[in-house]
Amino acid sequence: MSKTSNGMRQSRLFTKTRREAPADEVAKNAQLLVRAGYIHKEMAGVYDFLPLGLLTLNKIIAIIREEMNAIGGEEVLLSTLQDPTVWKKSGRWDDAVVDVWFKTELKNGSELGLGNTHEEALTALMAGHIASYKDLPRYVYQFQNKFRNEARAKSGIMRTREFIMKDLYSFSKDAASHAEFYEKAATAYENVFKRAGIGDKTYRTFASGGSFSKYSHEFQTVCDAGEDVIYMDEEKRLALNKEVYDDAEVYAATGIDKASLKEAKAIEVGNIFTLGTRFSEALGLSFKDAEGKSSPVFMGSYGIGPARLMGTIVELLSDEKGLVWPESVAPFMHHIVSLGKPGDEVSKAAEDLYGDMTKAGHHVLFDDRDLRAGEKFAESDLLGIPRRIVVGRDAVATDSFEVVNRATGAVEKKSRAELLAK
Ligand code: ATP
Ligand code: MG
Repeated sequence: MSKTSNGMRQSRLFTKTRREAPADEVAKNAQLLVRAGYIHKEMAGVYDFLPLGLLTLNKIIAIIREEMNAIGGEEVLLSTLQDPTVWKKSGRWDDAVVDVWFKTELKNGSELGLGNTHEEALTALMAGHIASYKDLPRYVYQFQNKFRNEARAKSGIMRTREFIMKDLYSFSKDAASHAEFYEKAATAYENVFKRAGIGDKTYRTFASGGSFSKYSHEFQTVCDAGEDVIYMDEEKRLALNKEVYDDAEVYAATGIDKASLKEAKAIEVGNIFTLGTRFSEALGLSFKDAEGKSSPVFMGSYGIGPARLMGTIVELLSDEKGLVWPESVAPFMHHIVSLGKPGDEVSKAAEDLYGDMTKAGHHVLFDDRDLRAGEKFAESDLLGIPRRIVVGRDAVATDSFEVVNRATGAVEKKSRAELLAK
């Protein structure tokens, strides 16, 4: 086993790092993640997550899950295969309406879709569980693979044709109770982006809202690698996207002064949307109030792409040496780099330190391989683990270990006992 619950040995890690960026990757996030062995490219717009990449993605997913549970979310997992019947009811089966469909068929020739979003399926499902006002509100979410036939895929893991989305759908009795939850969801989203280390660059951004509300909100992270353009009010921490920039009403609604806006490229890391009764009416999801009167359920949808968020972190925080992970999403917190030779005192000390730190509950990647120090340090920089602990002859002799902060380069000296302390 290469991995205990808290630790991983690099000698047992199958992934190899590369010195050069792969020629077929233009996006920095994909170049670095492929070089560091976090991901593998299957084909354009399709990536696999390898051990370190999966640990990182799962850290991000865990943060999102905590925030969704905190606002009352109930987690489910719906199928990818989609029944055209429900999509025909909402009018979204047509390729002219939804231009990213992947469709397939059964052996008997009838059509199926690969889900690109789940309003239809979940609304139809909830019709079997919501009947009365007593059954409301409900907030249901999942981490689920979406398939989208995206026209272009040049942003690495930020725009792929198959990706995990966290999609939450809210079911409320009316617009007012929906609005209350919508605010909570917006705050939960802000918490997610803060915890993932990109809060200071992420703006709640007004976008067009469709038929039921004037506006929806995107969460846009300012970054030159972004495919979107936003106009931000840095003081108010709000922004507008292109759809609403020329709409006079948005300035009245937000108090934003058009003259103070700055244009910037940005990445849409998430969005929240008032759906109203569009899907509940189309798919027959209604409830009876206390007087027995029936009304359609009032809905909202809330999406985040964990891999797009991971790619955004790479775009923003990495440096010329490689990846730099915030502690909250790093695959491991510590990287022990042993400078020992097989069987010598130094490698024995490194082994002991690794064993004791993982036992004490620390999350440690252990470079236990017999390689040159320079090679190990360069690779350690590329992998981006927050704290590197160097175990060399002097450190062992003096009980003073260099702990290098990957993000700042700051070096601290710590004794073995200090390293073991939580
Ligand atoms: P975009 O305008 O960038 O295509 P979208 O409006 O299609 O995004 P949604 O359908 O609302 O996005 O999806 C919710 C979230 O899922 C997005 O905010 C984003 O974080 C993520 N996402 C969307 N498309 C992709 C994709 N192709 N690859 C990875 N993540 C994606
Ligand atoms: Mg899209």
